Amino acid sequence: MTTTSPATTSSDARDRAREGVAATARRLAEAGLVIGTAGNVSLRFEGPTGPEVAITATGVVLADIDPAGVSVLDVDGHQLAGDLAPTSELELHLDALRERGGAVVHTHSPAATAVSLVVDELPCVHYQQLAIGGAIRVAPFEVFGSPELAAAVRSALAGKQAAILAHHGTVALGSDLTKAADNALLLEWAADLYWRAAALGTPRALSEAQQVAVIEVALRTGYGSPRPATTEEP
Ligand SMILES: [Zn+2]
Repeated sequence: MTTTSPATTSSDARDRAREGVAATARRLAEAGLVIGTAGNVSLRFEGPTGPEVAITATGVVLADIDPAGVSVLDVDGHQLAGDLAPTSELELHLDALRERGGAVVHTHSPAATAVSLVVDELPCVHYQQLAIGGAIRVAPFEVFGSPELAAAVRSALAGKQAAILAHHGTVALGSDLTKAADNALLLEWAADLYWRAAALGTPRALSEAQQVAVIEVALRTGYGSPRPATTEEP
């Protein structure tokens, strides 16, 4: 397949979106963030009809998913392509994709779910957590697939790139599929860190001033992005 052909059409965009969503779902399964048919992935992209959403279908095993297991809908949830019905958490995905675009990952990852059983918020215990908004809220339990759950997640995500769902799992956002999956992995790592610390004592959170200091340096130096080497000492 060439990417330079002038014949490239927006239905190629659908194919790429479906392939990308399937690959991300397999990555999450491989990393242990989702098991069996639990968890789902979506991406907003520009398709033949305008903004479209590629999303994992319900009942598909994510470890083995291929593009046929990914449905394409418009941003109001009407099916445009694919033979399978979308995930039961469709509303939660559409809410975030309409508001923020990019990609959404929903997992049942074990450390974050365990933390959801004992706290209402995962404190900011490591400075890297600032990449997803610092402290992460735990949305109260609501039945899966319900409008109540979608609303609770919407509130918990305000100003953040991720949220934890009590007795359920996580949601992570990103400007693309890679970033959304990276954010889901970062949240699970932070939850695991918190869990280990809580086994030793009461974890201390980074103070507001410490968080601000980190953000200032990160903005000034472009922390987390590759940059050319320099011979000067920082
Ligand atoms: Zn779920």
